[in-house]
Amino acid sequence: MKYYNLKENSEQVTFAQAVKQGLGKNQGLFFPESMPKLDNIDELLAMPLVERSVKILQPFVKGDLTKKELTDIITDAFNFPALLQPISPERAILELFHGPTLAFKDFGARFMAKCLQAFVAKDAKASGETKPLTILTATSGDTGAAVAHAFHGIDNIRVVIMYPKGKISLLQEKMFTTLGGNIETLAVEGDFDDCQSLVKQSFDDRELANTIGLNSANSINISRLLAQVCYYFEAVAQLSRAKSDLSNIVFSIPSGNFGNLTAGLFAKAMGLPIKRFIAATNANDTVPRYLETGQWTPNTTVATISNAMDVSNPNNWPRVEHMLKSGIVEEGCVSSVSIDEEQTQSTVIQLSKLGYISEPHAAVAYKALQYSATEGEFGVFLGTAHPAKFKEVVESILGQPLGLPKELADCAGEPILSKDLAANFSDLRSYLLSEAI
Ligand SMILES: *Cc1c(COP(=O)(O)O)cnc(C)c1O
Repeated sequence: MKYYNLKENSEQVTFAQAVKQGLGKNQGLFFPESMPKLDNIDELLAMPLVERSVKILQPFVKGDLTKKELTDIITDAFNFPALLQPISPERAILELFHGPTLAFKDFGARFMAKCLQAFVAKDAKASGETKPLTILTATSGDTGAAVAHAFHGIDNIRVVIMYPKGKISLLQEKMFTTLGGNIETLAVEGDFDDCQSLVKQSFDDRELANTIGLNSANSINISRLLAQVCYYFEAVAQLSRAKSDLSNIVFSIPSGNFGNLTAGLFAKAMGLPIKRFIAATNANDTVPRYLETGQWTPNTTVATISNAMDVSNPNNWPRVEHMLKSGIVEEGCVSSVSIDEEQTQSTVIQLSKLGYISEPHAAVAYKALQYSATEGEFGVFLGTAHPAKFKEVVESILGQPLGLPKELADCAGEPILSKDLAANFSDLRSYLLSEAI
């Protein structure tokens, strides 16, 4: 399968190139040249996760990975479940947080890491020399942890993760700064925007980027989205065991950069029976305002308790827009709702009264369903993170203590291995070059 740049349509790359490059010319996103249609959906739904995911992704990686290679990658990457839990007769949550860093980002980051590992090895075999890669990424929490765990221990890939010093919770910090090995972490004296700007400056420095083989592993990478397509099929597969009528399924998606929504639209375009999507946002409501008015007018990003969704210029939106405008999915199949802080908190309480301990991101999605789902629709909302990742907030809303799952308890006692870095590009540049592998 070839992928083309949505901004500079003449730029066409293979799957391997799209994964290695991340972004195309002029910051354009890569998009598959055609959308594979699956006509044996019932048969697919009956398969186990790994076997089914191979069938779903095979057309997207054709020419770059054999079926055997893809099977190995998926078996390794998806070694934890996606679980559909009933909440009420018409609602269920798809729990995507049973991976090593307790967030849905484990699916995409692990799949991407294994793909890159395969491509680095193939390139080395073809050219006779190994060209190491450096993953440079900025994080305010979840992404850093998922990327660090996904790439930990992979040969010839060096990972450098920057985060704003003192501005993320200690538990979050422990999740990705205690691994060591090929995972280097830099505590930047500044805020998240400073970290992001340092990443951007590094990519703009072509000489540096070429020397260290720079890649960002962020959510615009097509491999991360493709992995996420698979759990929409898994959700419908689990639903199909309890429900015979699959014609009224609505997904509500807590959205930040809109990668999850993009993946859901891929699944629908491939033939999965999903009636429509609700993109739920917090106060950062660029998309709901856009769908209402047709004006794209991002406001300054505001901080909320669903902080992984504090994004006012979502970087996957051009893919969503393309699918809606070009008829890959029906134009009316996405609506969007903004949920405020008070509603988010009261929804966490409401869900706990239904016997389900959730966290702010899932609560935003559940509330959006309560607003927009009509009678007869079955609503699935995504559980994007384990409640313990937002322990302080959830404890203060519910007024009760939360236990720590093993993944968090394990790293809580480990020492932080980060180095401090001034928010200064020339310091970062010399660090990247001096320690290069
Ligand atoms: C990253 C993240 C989101 C937002 O997902 P997008 O694909 O960027 O829209 C939502 N919830 C949690 C917990 C996240 O970590």
